[in-house]
Amino acid sequence: MKTCTKCHIEKDESEFGVNRAYKDGKQRMCRECGKARCQTWRDKNIHKVRAYTKYYNEQFREEIRIKRKDSDRKYYQKNKDRWHNDWINNKDKKTAYRKKRQPIINEKQNDRRRKQIEQLSDPYIKDRIKRSYKTTDPSEHLMEIIRVIIKIKRYAKEKKKTVNQ
Ligand SMILES: [Zn+2]
Repeated sequence: MKTCTKCHIEKDESEFGVNRAYKDGKQRMCRECGKARCQTWRDKNIHKVRAYTKYYNEQFREEIRIKRKDSDRKYYQKNKDRWHNDWINNKDKKTAYRKKRQPIINEKQNDRRRKQIEQLSDPYIKDRIKRSYKTTDPSEHLMEIIRVIIKIKRYAKEKKKTVNQ
């Protein structure tokens, strides 16, 4: 048994995490208190956490992608039979549910798409480039050029409209 330095409750050794810096090789704070402190720190430093996550995701984009693909595949392999049986057993129910949900999903997708077009956000620009230049991985530079071209075209269209009125 060991007493937590934070909540001062005596708990089983297994309730303490590993820390080789200490003589007994265990954290001084129990797992529960450690978790709570971690959460408090996160809440207080949410901007730091977000900035770090963003940096990390950008820095290790390829590694993350590969790892995710790998774990997705493993996950799929592990569950495929279960999913298949589940699907067979509940086919009608699931089809009905999907049919009911489809208009809502479509509406959401259309909404997102409209916003992307309006704001000339990356997915829309990428899509335009894909259609015109047959490249799926455009450079930032090309994307910026296309963005400006579309802006000019839109501006011209608006001008024309006001002139014709
Ligand atoms: Zn504690």
